[in-house]
Amino acid sequence: MTKFSDLKLSPKVLKAIDEAGYETPTPIQAGAIPPALEGRDVLGIAQTGTGKTASFTLPMITALARGRARARMPRSLVLCPTRELAAQVAENFDAYAKNVKLTKALLIGGVSFKEQDALIDRGVDVLIATPGRLLDHFERGKLLLTGVQIMVVDEADRMLDMGFIPDIERIFGLTPFTRQTLFFSATMAPEIERITNTFLSNPERIEVARQATTSETITQELCMFKASRRDRASSEKRKLLRALIEREGEACSNAIIFCNRKTDVDIAAKSLKKYGYNAEPIHGDLEQSKRMQVLQGFRDGTIRFLCASDVAARGLDIPNVSHVFNYDVPGHAEDYVHRIGRTGRAGRDGKAIMICEPRDEKNLDAVERLIEKEIPRVDNPIQKEERKSRSRKNTEDVKADTPKQETKRSDGSKKPEAAPKSTNRRDDQRDERRNERSSGGRSRGGSNRRDNNRTVGMGDHLPDFIAKSFDERRQG
Ligand code: AMP
Repeated sequence: MTKFSDLKLSPKVLKAIDEAGYETPTPIQAGAIPPALEGRDVLGIAQTGTGKTASFTLPMITALARGRARARMPRSLVLCPTRELAAQVAENFDAYAKNVKLTKALLIGGVSFKEQDALIDRGVDVLIATPGRLLDHFERGKLLLTGVQIMVVDEADRMLDMGFIPDIERIFGLTPFTRQTLFFSATMAPEIERITNTFLSNPERIEVARQATTSETITQELCMFKASRRDRASSEKRKLLRALIEREGEACSNAIIFCNRKTDVDIAAKSLKKYGYNAEPIHGDLEQSKRMQVLQGFRDGTIRFLCASDVAARGLDIPNVSHVFNYDVPGHAEDYVHRIGRTGRAGRDGKAIMICEPRDEKNLDAVERLIEKEIPRVDNPIQKEERKSRSRKNTEDVKADTPKQETKRSDGSKKPEAAPKSTNRRDDQRDERRNERSSGGRSRGGSNRRDNNRTVGMGDHLPDFIAKSFDERRQG
């Protein structure tokens, strides 16, 4: 088996690795470090969690230990798709270069240009940046990329998803033709293949097993969910999330809750908070300082639930996550593997619970095809409970056999729900109305077929034939 000491890394880097507690290189490290140290281009097909960050930072630190940076001309450049990833790469540099004198700057949105300019002006060995921010600095004439000897593109497939490929091509064009390129992507989409063919020169290609399989240490569950009414879908789904969390009890020490949409990330976090859960959102629209603060809070345990979008959470290295909740089935099947891979790390046990609505079933098929197994279904704890209470209520209704008061409401207001009202339900309804307003969405009467007691605009009079036709529809 390859040892770190076989890899020709500098003694100071080896010391830092030892201090980090790493014993043996991971496959991507064993494969990428030797050619990178020889100055060759590397194409690493690997994802987060494989140790790929060290596979480019360690040889870079070794190579950059010789020589000095000139003002405004960084000697190396690492491009990352998100601010968090860039910050994480910067942390890795700090850890592995602690015995070496290297200067670095982090160019990400949300941090003042002034501070970043000052660092670049002094000259940096390593510049870690998101593409947009890097180009902003370049266009302001504060940065020259002609001194870049090593360029890293990290998480290229995510760059593609985020529409950064034109920026990446432009940045490649601004760096010297003689640079060394270390290029990493979890998958090789045709567009990524094209970029590597254009900008990499005879790269050493290292592919570590694609993570189509999920770790054996993760227990997976799937909870099917169908809203009782379309206009209640969101609030009922949030209620289901709470019930699923509660069902886990203390075993759920912390969790990442993934949503497909940024708005849902915010709403889920807000709703959890309202119900007394210690939850915070993380997504691309939050200020950088807030994102860092939330991440740190989640890492050190002061925040228990992190509601996240795929982009924000991609590549985040957060050890000890007991649970992952998939609030939606992800649109890309591979994201399911990424998402649930946040738990059950390093041989620990983890649990991943996903909610699936009827509209998600196509995505679910794709996930199950990818992981080549069926995710065990579990009962929906709420719908089970509601079925019981509905059947109880039906029995009572039959006994009473009298028309309901609510049918005569003339003000067009919502009919009170059948189940006993609670503050929480009212809160959720309010939430729901707010959501509808903010999304401009409205539920159409047609979706409320079962809600045959609600009469809007009929005044106090309900003609017999209308009640009859509704009844028939219900039976049908
Ligand atoms: P990455 O894929 O770069 O996000 O790394 C995932 C995690 O693996 C990080 O927490 C690293 O600190 C850790 N790691 C990287 N290389 C090694 C190694 N050789 N042995 C043990 N852990 C490692």
